[in-house]
Amino acid sequence: MLKGKSAIVTGSTSGIGLGIAEALAEQGVNILFNGFGDKAAIDQVVTGTASKFGVKTAYSAADMSKPADIRDMVKLGVDTFGAVDILVNNAGIQHTATIEDFPEEKWDAIIAINLSSAFHATKAVLPSMKARGWGRIINVASAHGLVASATKSAYVAAKHGIVGLTKVTALEQAGKGITANAICPGWVLTPLVQKQIDDNAKAKGISAQQAKEELLAAKEPSMHFSTPADIGALTVFLCSDAAANMTGTSLSHDGGWTAQ
Ligand code: NAD
Repeated sequence: MLKGKSAIVTGSTSGIGLGIAEALAEQGVNILFNGFGDKAAIDQVVTGTASKFGVKTAYSAADMSKPADIRDMVKLGVDTFGAVDILVNNAGIQHTATIEDFPEEKWDAIIAINLSSAFHATKAVLPSMKARGWGRIINVASAHGLVASATKSAYVAAKHGIVGLTKVTALEQAGKGITANAICPGWVLTPLVQKQIDDNAKAKGISAQQAKEELLAAKEPSMHFSTPADIGALTVFLCSDAAANMTGTSLSHDGGWTAQ
């Protein structure tokens, strides 16, 4: 069903973005990878995905805090594949501190990378989608797009913001074959979360395993992490015909976190 379509997945060199890129590639979708990391490891992901799934792949090193880079990334996608049918705004960073201690440059970086980048990428990609009358925009928000936690002011503000942006995108494109939806994961064990576990273990003088259990117990009644592959499968569903009339929604995959 999705074979031959093309996607940009931001922040797909690691974690959830990589899981989403692999799930889409498995359906025959060409992938423009993006994100930072070791060059050889990125090359391996980009060429390995192409040969494993028989799709076209490319890579953009665009920095999601830079609007001009984002426009160039979208242009590269259109030039390489002929069109961009699917945009997954996934790149994100985290920093934890109380508001009084929150460094201003971290606030600016989180708002730029976790929120504004989705605006710039959506704006740049819409003409290509509208020309074909089909498009899927998937914004990776968070449980923190729906509820808050202390010490995460910038992240929670950005994620609530991207849920709002998703709704506006959906309304503006309604009836034009283009949908926009947000996915709100709870805990997914990626480098972004591993750092929080390690910081907590160090601060409290407990083992990494204990810190992991504490992290789950504080928020997630299922006591299980979701996986990048789970979030990839949900993305594939949102791209399917069965989801053509789903738009403007925020779908939780959070082990009951936001049911509380
Ligand atoms: P991760 O650290 O494993 O991956 C983040 C990706 O974003 C990497 O590819 C990184 O290179 C890229 N990135 C970071 N800054 C960038 C920039 N300036 N420009 C381009 N790329 C950049 O993290 P993850 O856990 O996979 O997070 C992915 C998304 O999922 C984020 O938006 C995050 O907020 C969201 N999320 C994660 C969890 C979780 O529990 N891990 C839960 C809810 C939401």
